[in-house]
Amino acid sequence: MTTRRVAALIGSPVEHSLSPVIHQAAFDAAGIDWTYVAFDVAPGCAADAIRAMRVLGIAGMSVTMPHKRDVFDAVDRLEPAAQALHSVNTVTWDGDELVGSSTDGAGFVSSLAECGVDVDGARVAVIGAGGAARSVIDALGRAGSIDITVLNRTREHAERAATLSSAASVGVVSDIGRADIIVNATNVGMGVAPDDAGPDDLPCDPALLHAGQVVIDLVYHPLRTAWIEAAASVGAQAIDGLGMLIHQAALQQERWTGMLPDTTVMRIAAEAALVGR
Ligand code: NAP
Repeated sequence: MTTRRVAALIGSPVEHSLSPVIHQAAFDAAGIDWTYVAFDVAPGCAADAIRAMRVLGIAGMSVTMPHKRDVFDAVDRLEPAAQALHSVNTVTWDGDELVGSSTDGAGFVSSLAECGVDVDGARVAVIGAGGAARSVIDALGRAGSIDITVLNRTREHAERAATLSSAASVGVVSDIGRADIIVNATNVGMGVAPDDAGPDDLPCDPALLHAGQVVIDLVYHPLRTAWIEAAASVGAQAIDGLGMLIHQAALQQERWTGMLPDTTVMRIAAEAALVGR
């Protein structure tokens, strides 16, 4: 009888996802007999995939777009961040129950801690109000950030995102200069090499950034965006988006296997996979 366990990603599309590479690298490095596979699941079929998880005995599941909301409805129980966000990116067995979690925000906070950045007591400007921004705002509030300013192209989305934490409010562009930490949680800069970037490929005027700030780009393709380069050039601490991706995956594995994986191994695998993309 095999002891191999299977973890799976569901999403659509999934062919460019880094998750299989990141997760398998960590399973292999830990010497545990786990296999990670990606399933392209058509929109509207997430509940079927969760039923399949129960029937097939899949040991853990990652969930990406467009299924995070539907899986929220399909699991038996929710952890607090998933409950607040109405979004699930991780499904874990607890006895006979399937538990839904959202590890993106906690992964973001862990990735900053790894770089020596403590968000407790910090003033943070979050640019963007989509799924990634919402995870970050929720996690910053839980981790003790005292002032979370949300800036977004569509004000109504910013207003909705700011309800996720009592420390959050909708801000104005000049708030960026006063923040300790600035996060680009928009799509701006995605897929654009810094040398090809114009003003529209930066989430705000880089003249607002200065030394002493921590500037994070959640975009990780390319790894060094024009925003990261602009932040580094003024002497700010610039942090790329791969850390959040790695740490949200590490928190998934911790739930599934009970062990925190080696995030260095995961990052090396992810960087190798990004080369040439
Ligand atoms: P999303 O839910 O579609 O939200 C997109 C956000 O970007 C919205 O706030 C949107 O503003 C804004 N936006 C899009 N195009 C814009 C433009 N041209 N100018 C200004 N604002 C613009 O997407 P998401 O899932 O939050 O992802 C956002 C980014 O984070 C992506 O680049 C994604 O790859 C990255 N991400 C990274 C990680 C990680 O682990 N590092 C995890 C998740 C996502 P409106 O509200 O006005 O539409």
